[in-house]
Amino acid sequence: MMNEIISSTNITVHPTEESRIHEVDFNNLVFGKKFSDHMFEMKFSEGVWQEPVIKPFGTFEVTPASNVLHYGQAVFEGMKAFYVDENTVNIYRPETHHERFNHSCRRMCIPETSYETFIDALETLIRLDHQWVPKKNGTALYIRPFIFASDNLLAARSSDKFTYQIITSPVGAYYAEGFNPVSLTTPEKYVRAVVGGTGNVKTAGNYAASFLPAQKAKEKGFTQVLWLDAKEQKYIEEVGTMNIHFLIGDTLITPGLNGSILPGVTRRSVIALAKEWGYNVEERKISIDEVFEAYEDGSLKEVFGSGTAAVVSPVGLIEHNGKTIELDREKPGEFAQKCFDEITDIQYGRKEDQFGWVHPV
Ligand code: PMP
Repeated sequence: MMNEIISSTNITVHPTEESRIHEVDFNNLVFGKKFSDHMFEMKFSEGVWQEPVIKPFGTFEVTPASNVLHYGQAVFEGMKAFYVDENTVNIYRPETHHERFNHSCRRMCIPETSYETFIDALETLIRLDHQWVPKKNGTALYIRPFIFASDNLLAARSSDKFTYQIITSPVGAYYAEGFNPVSLTTPEKYVRAVVGGTGNVKTAGNYAASFLPAQKAKEKGFTQVLWLDAKEQKYIEEVGTMNIHFLIGDTLITPGLNGSILPGVTRRSVIALAKEWGYNVEERKISIDEVFEAYEDGSLKEVFGSGTAAVVSPVGLIEHNGKTIELDREKPGEFAQKCFDEITDIQYGRKEDQFGWVHPV
């Protein structure tokens, strides 16, 4: 018999009868391999979201005609929660992630979800699976909310049925072996996203389409792709699956949200901190030529990516059309390091959360 616990928004909870936590080696966590005991699920049919449930993590049935397998009508989020002490786990910027989740839903013709259910689902999952939140500095509980079209119909149109799930996974420190500045190359003939397309939302196909150029960059000996705009192949958009920032003189320049760039939550945090610290902050178009010119005249101080996985990822080398920029290849610049320290101090509750970024559970 399953116990029934009711959450504040009436999520029915079916706790697992047997935890799998003993299968996890918390000293060797591999990203996205082990999943906590429980998952959230809510289905959409007949025009409404149905009853939410939390149940043991497990498999489910799909038929070969499931919409998502053919047309990829699917959205997701990627966020983290951090161990503070025995009584507290901090979820990082859940409202901002949920806003983007709904934004992605609108673009992909998927019904939006309420913040109330989202935050209740996260709180309930974290309370049930609190032992799955790893404790060491740098580690976190990765949270993956996602929604996919679950109609069994081969018509190429928006589905009438959707499945919304949230799974969580303990993850190790991104920089367990110290910072490792990445090397980038611009793809010769591929683009990540076009204005008017889906690059500014988190949908499955964006990632599928990025795997080939990412693989080619690796074959050429680079860590990641530096994405340029689709129209002119001139302006810098993102790096791998991160946003990008340039410190030129005392100005932090970040490509502006032009419709093909994903509005990163970490990007927002970096920009807020730079403003707080008194830097000039510009969100605007920045061309690859401008970056090379700044490098040549000595004003290019730092380049780094930002994202949930790494917080900041220093860039040590950029190759474009046979020319290269070489920065510090051993360690991050002062500014990137300061952003990393400040954001992680807030996440782990070591520093006052002056921006209201964390949601303690
Ligand atoms: N760009 C892309 C394409 C991404 O997938 C991500 C990761 N979600 C980011 C940027 C960084 O976003 P965030 O800071 O919200 O993780």
